[in-house]
Amino acid sequence: MFNENDKKTIVDAITKAELNTSGEIRVHIDKKCKIDPIDKAIEVFEKLGMQNTELRNGVLIYVATSNKKLAIIGDEGINNAVSENFWDDIKDEMISHFKNGDFTAGLSNGIIKSGEQLKKHFPYQSDDVDELSNEISFGDE
Ligand code: CA
Ligand code: CA
Repeated sequence: MFNENDKKTIVDAITKAELNTSGEIRVHIDKKCKIDPIDKAIEVFEKLGMQNTELRNGVLIYVATSNKKLAIIGDEGINNAVSENFWDDIKDEMISHFKNGDFTAGLSNGIIKSGEQLKKHFPYQSDDVDELSNEISFGDE
């Protein structure tokens, strides 16, 4: 589903997005999600230790490719700063790419947009540390 070029495009998008914001963006990809994708995303968020950022500003973009499920969740630092519908436009745009089967474009666009949106609340700091890996996390299901 994702060849080496696709993976590189996605990781590069994360690296680029994190030059706009101190927020830490990660992507997790499953084949199938049998439960509510938000619940699954919360599970993965914890498993990846994403709550271990100084400003509690980790963001997880969760995708299940075979049933085209998507969830974007932020840590409490982000939830306290943004409105509940903060991710809606980004999600809608990503899903329209997914419907065309273009997961890589959907993800990389969504990642870049997330960085731009987060910039207002969590601007990039000159002493930035890459607190969470930019590598994609793959589920084994
Ligand atoms: Ca960082
Ligand atoms: Ca990072």
